[in-house]
Amino acid sequence: MRETTERAVAGTSHLECTGCGQAWESEKLMGVSPCCTKPLFARYDLERVYPCFRPEGLRGRRPDLWRYEEVLPVRDVSCRAHLGEGFTPLVDATRLAARLGVGRVWIKDEGQNPTGSFKDRGASVAVARAKELGATEVAIPTIGNGGAAAAAYGAALDVAVHVFLPRDTPPATHEQIRALGAELHLLDGNVANSRQAVREGVRQHGWFDLSTLEEPYRVEGKKTMGYEVVEQLGFRLPDVIVYPTGGGTGFIGMWKAFDEMERLGWIGPERPRMVVVQATGCQPIVRAWEQGAETAEPWGEVRTYAAGFGATRVFADFLILRIIRASGGAAVAVPDEAMARWVEIVGKDTGLFISPEGGATLAAVECLRERGLVSEDDEVVAFATASGLKYVGLRPL
Ligand SMILES: *Cc1c(COP(=O)(O)O)cnc(C)c1O
Repeated sequence: MRETTERAVAGTSHLECTGCGQAWESEKLMGVSPCCTKPLFARYDLERVYPCFRPEGLRGRRPDLWRYEEVLPVRDVSCRAHLGEGFTPLVDATRLAARLGVGRVWIKDEGQNPTGSFKDRGASVAVARAKELGATEVAIPTIGNGGAAAAAYGAALDVAVHVFLPRDTPPATHEQIRALGAELHLLDGNVANSRQAVREGVRQHGWFDLSTLEEPYRVEGKKTMGYEVVEQLGFRLPDVIVYPTGGGTGFIGMWKAFDEMERLGWIGPERPRMVVVQATGCQPIVRAWEQGAETAEPWGEVRTYAAGFGATRVFADFLILRIIRASGGAAVAVPDEAMARWVEIVGKDTGLFISPEGGATLAAVECLRERGLVSEDDEVVAFATASGLKYVGLRPL
């Protein structure tokens, strides 16, 4: 007999095309949707999960992202590595809030993930799921952090990892990728070239492609940031979420998580205003949003020391732009000097040594406060997506 205390089994019911809504089978390796060539979203039987997946039931679960296993795709526990992925601190930054003139500022310190960035969330789930479905070799184009994360989970789960990245990416990540046993390919040009090289390798060697939002499960790992913010705030939402956006995996993932939580009865229909931050030296989404466009044109030359902003072609552009609009959010570009200034301020005000992408979120709050788009009462969650240690020696451009 089924008891109410019994844990629901993790696992998807099917995949869904974000272009047309068509359902696809989830128990084999899939990339983009065969119907529209758009990202696929994993769907769960939330009605079945609902009775035993309640806020009260989270107490005492392990402090990593697998605490939300009912809404994650990996069934086989032997495919899950526990390196400390997720469940990072949400730091109440009272001095920063006073300085910025807003009600509250929390910093979600993603630098405390195992490889020093939030890419571990996506990699821990996507590599696990790929292994579960039979992949033995995976490939990823990256600006560094995603490669380090894939390398770590490949090493932990005995999956071979091929990493392709531009030469002028943070050198610390190159060391890290090598040390974690992945095959490192340094290429000329921007990340679009690396993307092309991965495509080639996939065609020639049959590797599984982990490119951003071109497989369904990195976004599942990243969505746990949404579950964590809600859990850590006591099952409510902030007014504003500020997110340093490259491919937009976490931005899209959190929005998906809010929808799931509403269907689970954890939150109501309210949503935070979702703010995209990019670098002035690579801002395809900000430009598209300012033009009122529904998709983003590729950006040309990248000029920023914050490598996380290096995505020139944004595959899921239409999803990001839709979320900004639906939430009443905004998109803001900030220069490198402002990022660097806020990295220092955050260090001195909070004790956290964050990366320039994180600094950019506070620079964006300052800018939105000046424009009157964030008020003195607003409660803001800012994502510090990597540790400052990964960028030591790099200077603003
Ligand atoms: C990859 C990355 C980003 C962008 O993340 P997306 O979810 O792909 O938009 C931001 N900051 C850092 C440090 C990154 O490595």
